[in-house]
Amino acid sequence: MPGTHSLLSPSSASRWLRCTPSARLEESFTDKAGEAAAEGTLAHSLGELLIKNQLKLISKAVFNKEFKAIKENKFYDAAMQEHAENYAAYVLERFSEAKSHTPDAVLYLEQRLDMTRYVPEGFGTGDAVIIANGVLDINDLKYGKGVTVFAENNPQMKLYALGALDEFDFMYEIHTVRMTIFQPRIDNISTWELPVSELRAWAEEELKPRAALAFDGGGDYTPGAHCQFCRAKATCKANADFNLEIAKHEFKAERLMSDDEIADVLNRAPLFTAWLSAVLEHALDQAVNHGKRWPGFKLVEGKSNRVYTDEEKVAEFLIKEHKYSEDIIYQPRKILGITAMEKALGKGVFASTLNGYIIKPPGKPTLVPISDKREEINSNESAIADFS
Ligand code: SF4
Repeated sequence: MPGTHSLLSPSSASRWLRCTPSARLEESFTDKAGEAAAEGTLAHSLGELLIKNQLKLISKAVFNKEFKAIKENKFYDAAMQEHAENYAAYVLERFSEAKSHTPDAVLYLEQRLDMTRYVPEGFGTGDAVIIANGVLDINDLKYGKGVTVFAENNPQMKLYALGALDEFDFMYEIHTVRMTIFQPRIDNISTWELPVSELRAWAEEELKPRAALAFDGGGDYTPGAHCQFCRAKATCKANADFNLEIAKHEFKAERLMSDDEIADVLNRAPLFTAWLSAVLEHALDQAVNHGKRWPGFKLVEGKSNRVYTDEEKVAEFLIKEHKYSEDIIYQPRKILGITAMEKALGKGVFASTLNGYIIKPPGKPTLVPISDKREEINSNESAIADFS
């Protein structure tokens, strides 16, 4: 669950393990995760509350009071309710399955986990930890939907597992850790398990020395895809050098780029464009909010459109004073878009009531690397060739 973060937080471990100096560098930048983090925190609280209520760990009065507070939060909506219910149902099912194997199965919710044996000042929160039959089953609710997160070899999950082992292995005999990421907004459930011995070997041989280096701000700046989650990404020199490599590409001396050269540009484009957007966003933010003047640039008003000062007064004036009918001055009523409707009804109700009314037209052709999991489509030319 999001909350106060340590310098080497589990959620950013995949970055600081690769680029060890990034953790210290990030300290001088503000965390802009704000709204998304607050929304995630609320979803976690709701999920936890629903589980506690189902297991009768809290009284009805406590449940009602906390549920009311959650429902009054600006981030609460029908979709969040449904996602939290799905998460709660998933955890309860795992727990009841564990109990069917052994009555000694235990469940810990929102458990604070200490990882300081491997990571200086390292701590995190295990959303739902189930222990049964020598298996430590750690479940993590992810409310984000921008990036699909997988459990396999996921450093954050391995850190949680290590923290949970330190917390519980003196009470229980644990030989295996199972890690699950539950990402309800994109229907992603990803599970991975490994023996405790392998996890501990990774922790000693890889994690511990890298974490010590990261804590001291040592090591080499190592740019890559992980930079997109770094607060320093817009101004980090190593990231800039890495991305500007695209401009330094040594093209062959011919007049036109070769297929391989274009493919190389395509390959670098996603990271490059993300970096470019980050730099532009940073420069604008500094100029607008901090009075920064960039050499050779000035701040001006962008294009804007006319707006009514008061829509209701305009309508009243046209209807009453100028006798226009409502048909003329109002837009026709319009049904909510699919995403907004799904949010308003909740995913389950939306699917059960409107399934027969939804189609998914083919998407716009997009060029992606061969490794992408989507099926290849035929271009016009190859379709004609197939036909002839
Ligand atoms: S932007 Fe990338 S290279 Fe620079 S500090 Fe962050 S993770 Fe390291």
